[in-house]
Amino acid sequence: MKNIKLKSYKKKRDFYITPEPKGQKSPKASSKLRFVIQKHAASHLHYDFRLEMDGVLKSWAIPKGPSLNHEDKRLAIQTEDHPLEYQYFEGIIPAGQYGGGTVLIWDKGTYEHIGDESSLLKDYHKGHLVIELKGKKLKGGFVLQRIKNGDKPQWLFIKIKDKYENKKCDILKKDKSVVTGKTLREIGLKDSHD
Ligand code: MN
Repeated sequence: MKNIKLKSYKKKRDFYITPEPKGQKSPKASSKLRFVIQKHAASHLHYDFRLEMDGVLKSWAIPKGPSLNHEDKRLAIQTEDHPLEYQYFEGIIPAGQYGGGTVLIWDKGTYEHIGDESSLLKDYHKGHLVIELKGKKLKGGFVLQRIKNGDKPQWLFIKIKDKYENKKCDILKKDKSVVTGKTLREIGLKDSHD
């Protein structure tokens, strides 16, 4: 299945060199919408927040990473849609490639749109999304609020005040992969045969 939404994703990458998924498989329907956050040590360390929506992963780069504190309004810069398979990607993007560096699956789980289910895309296009995350590290309500349109729209990612809000816990200290238990450094270590 050709997915026109992934044009920008494919254009940026050379799949002969990068191990990232090509995005050629048909997106598998799942009963629940999934999300992933990938810690990405590229030229600048950031966290890539991706929400399954409309057959792709809508994506935002959060330079400072998510916070459990309602008062932290974390800048989230929207990036190109990624294929659904990307949620499973952990590894090394070779130097010189787009986003070259190490990728770690920092959190994953499912999410629910707060509001009428049919209005998920509507809210996304309006630039105001309220979601409930059911991850291993992030739980409860969050808001994504678009503050600037354009080529790379800017949003704010904010924890909603609920029982999971926590002003004292620095969730980023939980820095291991939720899939492999590895640290960024361990994922970045190439084996001796490379
Ligand atoms: Mn990234």
